[in-house]
Amino acid sequence: MNQFVSPLRKPPAGHVRPKFLVFIALAFCVLAVSVAFFGVSAVTPYIGVVLALNDHGWTVQSVDSNGLAREAGIKEGDVPVAINGQPADVFLEKYEKAGIVFEVLIRELTVVNGEGQLKSVARENNPPSSRSVAEVAAWFITSLVFWAVGFYVLIKRPRNMAAMLLCLCGLTFGLALSGNMAAERLVPGALQLQVVAAVIGPWLLFHFFLILPEERAWLRKSRLVYLIYLPAAITLVLFPIMGYADGQPLPGFRTFRLLEYGAGFLAAAGAVLFNYLRAGSPRTRQQMKIVLISCLAAIIPFLVLSIFPATIQNIIPSGFNLLFIAFIPLGLGYAVVTTKLMDIDVLIRRSVVYGLITLVMAAILSAGIITVVVFQDTLGIPEEIAISIGLGGVATLLFGPTKRTIETLVDRLFYKDRYDYRQIIQSMSASLRSLNDCVDISRVIVGTTVHTLNLAGGCLFTKSQSGSFELSAGQGTFADPDKQGELATIISQGIEGIEFPNAASTACSDLAFLIPLIAGDKRVGILCLSQKASRQDFSSNDLYLLQGLASVGAMALHSAMLVRDVSMRDTFVSIASHELRTPLTAITGYAELLLRRDPPEATRRRWLQNIFDNSQKISKMVDDLLNVSRIQTGRTTIKLQRVKVSDVLDEVLSMVRESCDKSKYEFVVDIEPALPDVLVDRDKFGQVIGNLLDNAVKYSPNGGRITLSAHNDPERHRVVVSVADEGIGIGAEDKASLFTTFHRIQRPETQGIRGSGLGLYIAKEWTQAMGGEIWLESQLNKGSTFFVAVPTQTLQDGPKKELHVIGRACQ
Ligand code: ADP
Repeated sequence: MNQFVSPLRKPPAGHVRPKFLVFIALAFCVLAVSVAFFGVSAVTPYIGVVLALNDHGWTVQSVDSNGLAREAGIKEGDVPVAINGQPADVFLEKYEKAGIVFEVLIRELTVVNGEGQLKSVARENNPPSSRSVAEVAAWFITSLVFWAVGFYVLIKRPRNMAAMLLCLCGLTFGLALSGNMAAERLVPGALQLQVVAAVIGPWLLFHFFLILPEERAWLRKSRLVYLIYLPAAITLVLFPIMGYADGQPLPGFRTFRLLEYGAGFLAAAGAVLFNYLRAGSPRTRQQMKIVLISCLAAIIPFLVLSIFPATIQNIIPSGFNLLFIAFIPLGLGYAVVTTKLMDIDVLIRRSVVYGLITLVMAAILSAGIITVVVFQDTLGIPEEIAISIGLGGVATLLFGPTKRTIETLVDRLFYKDRYDYRQIIQSMSASLRSLNDCVDISRVIVGTTVHTLNLAGGCLFTKSQSGSFELSAGQGTFADPDKQGELATIISQGIEGIEFPNAASTACSDLAFLIPLIAGDKRVGILCLSQKASRQDFSSNDLYLLQGLASVGAMALHSAMLVRDVSMRDTFVSIASHELRTPLTAITGYAELLLRRDPPEATRRRWLQNIFDNSQKISKMVDDLLNVSRIQTGRTTIKLQRVKVSDVLDEVLSMVRESCDKSKYEFVVDIEPALPDVLVDRDKFGQVIGNLLDNAVKYSPNGGRITLSAHNDPERHRVVVSVADEGIGIGAEDKASLFTTFHRIQRPETQGIRGSGLGLYIAKEWTQAMGGEIWLESQLNKGSTFFVAVPTQTLQDGPKKELHVIGRACQ
């Protein structure tokens, strides 16, 4: 069974740190004070008018829909006659300069309307209306949601700066809402609190969106980000000095403050849009999508209900529209806490499923209510209780099966045509059946996945004989060697599976999935998938399909690996015996000749030389086999030391020059002066370069130029040595498997050339063990260049393989 690590996996819950407990306690005090405001407010009726001075003198500028003034029939445009027991002129004289009087100051009001009628209203004579209480309740519930979400997020994500900010946002907006309500009802000090909270709130929100996405993690550490609070700080300092007089805010300053809120909210909205458009990871886009959806879900009904109050006022409770604002904190909280992959498909599917479940459950409970209503004369209270408990039990028992049935039905009805799972899986299985080579199988797996899901790229790392994961196929954006290097690093760091959005996605921005391919209890490969080419999110269907493809692919790879291991052993025996037997036969032949005959001195020397050369070949073969065995059993010993590159290269080159036909080859050396020393195992580094030079000679049967170069790569702290020849070259199809054991390219040109196919495998394993990298560029019949990059500094991640590093000199 393939074990697919679901992206829908829950993240581990965080732990609360003690200092946050203090914070939470403090926050609760604020909550308590605000609740007290509401306590006062709920029993205090309010008048709900704003008076303004215009060309015709003082008039009623606005009338609150839930205040006493509206109930008393006072309308916009009415002229005040008496205020708080004084003639209006006398009262308003003080406010001529400000030109506006807010309701906070008005306790009693008498106005005259256009028809000359007098209308009066006084707070003291009126009990709070039910509308007013309902409105207060709506404000309170909304503030409560802000607070609750703030705390919840803080508890869930204590180490997260975004969570802290969200908690502060929750508190601030909760406070702003309660302060606003209390200020309308003349609660002392509420106005100032409301102004403080409301001015800081939008900037907190802006800050939150600035640092929320992973891409802007660096902003979290930058102190400059706090500069965004400067306008809010200036406003708060100016407010008591020049913005507030005679118990009310001055209109000019009020406008300034409104501009200030506007700027803060616009900046926050801009940051959300920017994050959405420039998201480097699906996680960020997902978060921003949730925020945008929740804002729309809040603002659209809020505006609709606020714009048409007259038509719907009598249908829905007063202040109802405010409740929609609660979607905003809910969305923000969800965006911080969630690590779930939620695309629109998933959202719709869940809404449909849970909507239908609610209907079924409601039907069951309605049955109970109807029974009780119909038989109310005959049923006593104990029977009614028994019926309720019975139906509650039935509803509980039915919940699970109902949910499963509805899910199956919904999937069948709404999602059946998205993918033809069976067809895709069957055709992939059919293509894989005829293949035995891991590379070919990998190509099919990657190709099918990338094509079917319309991904920008994908690649597969399969388990090699030495136990490491090696690239076996890459497509699209993941065909790029740099990207593959990045992915190889992620895999070598042991990141397992996918936890969406996961650590891997920050390490490599366009990586969406790392799926381990597991057959039985063996991990045979790791499939790396990018985002979709269309930048759409993955749906639940995509995930189901991926699961299927991964299972089939894992099984095909596993069986190919078993076949490979068996044939490997056969190859090993046949190559080893052939490669050992050929020189041994020559040695035996010449030795026998020497024993039987007494040749002249020159011939004798030639025969002895032949015996020597062939015994060298046997010795090299035995060395290679031992090295392979050491690598595969993790017993290679690497002694790292500082080494001067030019010394090693000179030494190796002179040895190779000695052993080849100098008239056929032109050796060019291009070593950058002042190369830094490298940190390698001197012998093994020499042998790797020696092997590449030997191959350059061996696979250039017509001779030609062989160039040995060495250049510094200071950015990546390494030196790159290359060996270029003008020989037979290597085709693209052979490049991937070149560095595996016993891989020899079978071409007419390589017919007469002897070799074991182990040299490059050993070179790669050793280079990687020293923290380096080996790769090649080649064109068929034009020549090849092999590159070996070795570090100039301490190994960053330790040796790549489980090799035994016994020394790290001069680090
Ligand atoms: P060997 O040379 O002993 O066969 P190697 O592991 O060194 O083993 O090389 C593996 C294969 O790679 C060789 O059999 C040859 O086909 C190919 N090869 C290696 N180096 C070159 C080169 N410079 N030019 C062309 N082909 C090469």
